[in-house]
Amino acid sequence: MIRRLSAVVVECDRCAARWARTANGPTHFAEESDALAALLQDPHTDPGWRVRANGQLWCAACAAAEECAVLGHRPTPWRRCRCRGTCGAGRAADGGCTVEFRHCARCLRDEQRRLTAPAVREVS
Ligand SMILES: [Zn+2]
Ligand SMILES: [Zn+2]
Ligand SMILES: [Zn+2]
Repeated sequence: MIRRLSAVVVECDRCAARWARTANGPTHFAEESDALAALLQDPHTDPGWRVRANGQLWCAACAAAEECAVLGHRPTPWRRCRCRGTCGAGRAADGGCTVEFRHCARCLRDEQRRLTAPAVREVS
């Protein structure tokens, strides 16, 4: 006998990203309620997906991006580019690169800046 089974898959309402957490659990569910339970109700392994007030389901990246838009980014400390002048950004007076990087701990947005002269002196 050949039977067609229906399954629930989960997609972000904003960017259409498919739920794909294969390491710890199923990616297909029998019922919508099972899917919601897997996505939202385990605080220890919170995957970051969120149900919005209007009923839309957003993936972790979209939820984080909006949280950052409202609350501001949560940047990590600036870290100096370690290329020692070979990445093309130019060398600072201390021989290191003139670029620093950091990213947002929540939405992972990258940011970079040129070192200012006082910052270079601080590092050296
Ligand atoms: Zn999304
Ligand atoms: Zn952010
Ligand atoms: Zn560099």
